[in-house]
Amino acid sequence: MKVTDHISQAKDTLISFEVLPPLKGKGIEALYNHLNPLMEFKPSFVNVTYHRSEHVFKKRADGSFEKVVIRKRPGTESICAAIMNKYNVDTVPHLICGGFNINETEDALINLRYLGIDNVLVLRGDAAKNETAFEPEPGGHKYANELLKQVANLNAGVYLDDDLKGTHKTEFCIGVAGYPEKHFEAPNMDTDLQYLKAKVDAGADYIITQMFFDNKKYFAFVDACRAAGINVPIIPGLKPIYSKKQLTILPKTFHIDLPSDLSNEVLKCKTDEEVEKVGAEWLLAQSRELKAYGVPVLHYYTLGRPNLIAGVVKQLV
Ligand code: FAD
Repeated sequence: MKVTDHISQAKDTLISFEVLPPLKGKGIEALYNHLNPLMEFKPSFVNVTYHRSEHVFKKRADGSFEKVVIRKRPGTESICAAIMNKYNVDTVPHLICGGFNINETEDALINLRYLGIDNVLVLRGDAAKNETAFEPEPGGHKYANELLKQVANLNAGVYLDDDLKGTHKTEFCIGVAGYPEKHFEAPNMDTDLQYLKAKVDAGADYIITQMFFDNKKYFAFVDACRAAGINVPIIPGLKPIYSKKQLTILPKTFHIDLPSDLSNEVLKCKTDEEVEKVGAEWLLAQSRELKAYGVPVLHYYTLGRPNLIAGVVKQLV
C-alpha cells in the first residue's frame, strides 16, 4: 500500500521507522533482531536506506596501499522484500542518483515492482568519500528531481526504450527529502524551497524531513512550504541523542543545530547511559508536541537504538 494511502486513511498520527541494511558479513537476523521490538507498534511502513560503494585504501603485506571498491551495506531492495515477507508491512526503499546510470535505475525500479513494492524515497545521495562534491555517474542523474522524473515516467508507462509498446505502468508513490534547517549546499532557504517545490511539481507525493531537534524549525518549515505552494504531507524525521559524541557528530554530518537546552543537559551527563535517558525524554517531548500539532506520521531513524525508540513510542500510544 502507498504511504499516501496510509496517510489518507489514518484516524490518528501514524508511526514509521527507518533501518539500515546489515553490514556486509552479518546475516539478516541482525536486522530482524533490530526490528522485532518495534513491530508491536504496527508501523505503517519501514524505510530502508541505500548505501553506495566507496573507495578505500587497503594496506598490503609489503606496506603499500591498494585502492579497492567496497559496499559495506548492500541489499536495500531484497531487504525490503524480506521485511515485507516476514512482518507483512509496507516498505520504502531509498533510491539514489549516485552510482547509477539511468538504465541501471530503470532496472532497479522494474525489480522493485516485481517484488510488489509500492513506494520509493527518491534522493540524490551525498558525495562519495573520495569526492569533494557530489558527482553524478556517467549517464546518471545529477539531482533528485531528475531521478524523480524517471520514476514518474515509468508510472506513466514511459520506459527508456521508446520502441516498447503497450508498456506496464508502475504505480510508485514517490517520497522526497526536505530540510527544515536547509540543505547544506543551498545558498538560502528560499532557493532550497524552490527546488523542493520543483520536486513536488514533478510528481513527489510527500516529503520526509531531515532530523531536527527543535520542533519550531519543523513548524516554520511547514509554514514556509505552504506559503511556497507545497501542499503534500510533510513527515517529520526524528532521531534520539544517545551519546555525548553526537553533540559534534550530528551537526557536522547532517548540518543541523542542537538546541542549547538539549546540549546543556547532555553535557551535564556523566555517562552515555545518562545521555540516553536525556535523549529519550527529549524525543518523547518532541513526539508529543508534533502529534498534538497533527503531523501525519512520526518517522523514527532507529539507527542502532530500537529499544530506546520502542520505549518512547510506547508512551505515545
Ligand atoms: P536534491 O533534491 O537533488 O538537492 C540537493 C541540493 O541541490 C540542494 O541544495 C538543492 O537545493 C539543490 N538542487 C536541487 N535541485 C537542483 C537543480 N535542479 N539545480 C540546482 N540545484 C538544485 N543518502 C543516501 O545516500 N542514502 C539514503 O538512504 C539517504 N536517505 C535519506 C533520507 C532522508 C529522509 C534524508 C533527508 C536524506 C537522506 N539521504 C540519504 C541524504 C541525501 O542523499 C543528501 O542529503 C543529499 O545531499 C541531498 O539529497 P536530496 O535528495 O535532498 O537532493
